[in-house]
Amino acid sequence: MKNGYVYDPLNGINGQIMDIAAKDGKIVDRVDEHKARIVDASGMTVMPGGVDIHTHIAGGEVNSGRLLRPEDHFKDYESRTLLTRSGVGRSIPSTFTTGYRYCRMGYTTVMNPSMSPLEAKHTHEELNDTPMVDKASYPLLGDWWFVLEYLAQDNIEECARHIAWLMDSTKGYAIKIVNPGGLEAWGFGHNVKNLDDQVPHFCITPREIVRGLCKVNSLLRLPHTIHLHTNNLGKPDNYLTALETMKCVENLAAENKPAIHVTHCQFSAFKGDDWRTMQSGAEEIAKYINNHTHVTTDMGQIIFTDTTTMTADGPFQYDLYGLTGNKWVNHDVETETSAGIVPFRYRRKSYVHAVQWSIGLELALLIKDPWKIFMTTDHPNAGPFTSYPKIIAWLLSRKAREASLKRINARARSRSLLPSIDRELSLYEIAIVTRAGQAKALGLKNKGHLGLGADADIAIYNFNPEKTDLSRKYRTARRAFKRAAYTIKSGEIVSQNGEIIKSVNGTTMWADVELSHPAEVTEDFKKRFREYWTVEFENYPVSAEGLKASLPIRVEAKV
Ligand SMILES: [Zn+2]
Repeated sequence: MKNGYVYDPLNGINGQIMDIAAKDGKIVDRVDEHKARIVDASGMTVMPGGVDIHTHIAGGEVNSGRLLRPEDHFKDYESRTLLTRSGVGRSIPSTFTTGYRYCRMGYTTVMNPSMSPLEAKHTHEELNDTPMVDKASYPLLGDWWFVLEYLAQDNIEECARHIAWLMDSTKGYAIKIVNPGGLEAWGFGHNVKNLDDQVPHFCITPREIVRGLCKVNSLLRLPHTIHLHTNNLGKPDNYLTALETMKCVENLAAENKPAIHVTHCQFSAFKGDDWRTMQSGAEEIAKYINNHTHVTTDMGQIIFTDTTTMTADGPFQYDLYGLTGNKWVNHDVETETSAGIVPFRYRRKSYVHAVQWSIGLELALLIKDPWKIFMTTDHPNAGPFTSYPKIIAWLLSRKAREASLKRINARARSRSLLPSIDRELSLYEIAIVTRAGQAKALGLKNKGHLGLGADADIAIYNFNPEKTDLSRKYRTARRAFKRAAYTIKSGEIVSQNGEIIKSVNGTTMWADVELSHPAEVTEDFKKRFREYWTVEFENYPVSAEGLKASLPIRVEAKV
């Protein structure tokens, strides 16, 4: 790649004109130019391949969503070509189409944030069928029965060994916690209301689950922090719960290191007693995050469109079903977790939806350090990932925000903090919130940058950053980020001007934890499997051979 304007924040490169060489899938110092394929990136913007820390693209709930919504299929479909397979779906595209669409936007790594351990095999089958990108999954562990039992006994070490076994069995990457304790309570038709509520039958509270798993995470030295969807998500006044959750692991953080990732923060930043008085709690959340070093977060930015909400937070989805009267799936995953799916339309003229739209952007702009907040839509919950170019434009351009503000609900507009915020992210900062920061938070050492030895995943966008004032010409940014001029995956040009020109697999990454004293699989453990699960212990694990291209990320645990 020659003569591109390079934005590589992890290496401090801010728009310098550079050449970048790749060989055997990695960034190298130099190559023999006579033998190499040269990409002329003169007058173009070059970034590492995009990284998405939170996007529901595979597994039980995604597939149930597809089944629930045939209307989502005929709205949007892609025909097969000589190189690509056909596919359908707008908010919940089929597997191949998902891979192609990410690739067209210059994304090369995506993290599937919600995998029921029991449904890990299905999840990996779908990830095997998602081409063009590297991927990984976070198993849902915050309400798993054995986890709750060990934590209730304060037996952190045994819990850690057990979770190392689960990471291997599910080929998982990070610990996902959704509405801790609330999903177990939902099995009995209840929920938990605050961090100190008792979880039925387990003698444990959400606070103890979060703190316990945070300790487990550091014992196991997993690459990412715990990845948490807060209690009370999607409810008025829940910003207090979000603040309390971040505070509860404050003293567990190693110096200047994150200890918790609070995901799709927009959904956890509501203030006000009810929907009528609901307003933004973004200022309070941003203030807390600005003053602390142990939290990272992502936006969960609302897009005004028709989409499909899906989460392991069964009780929340039940409430959403109650609010909308739309069709609904409720799923109880045996002893492990729950799930719910409800189609949803975010409307500009709805007061609540417009406030939510504003909250996501307020968070991204009020949190000063871009290494702490990343761009997501919690795909497809707040909108499909294909809307990312729109969000980039809002972040880059006050003018783009003003144009959208004009069209939203008037009361929401009058209360929005956005008119008082002048900040416009630079391209360097965009590169942080869309790839470098996400890779860093995930502990993906070879991704999100273009230094020597990094994976040769590169996105080239067709605009000249010196000549284009993106703050004014935000539509140019939107177009460019929608269809990358080139996407390079592992050193190969896989897409050009938004067309897939080569189909590649991508690897599935998982945390391969090495323990000094591995968990013993006792007869009692197997017996309980027989008693409580619908599958036998022997049929539970996903083997590395079950992954099309397995990439274990080796970690040495402290237990
Ligand atoms: Zn999510």
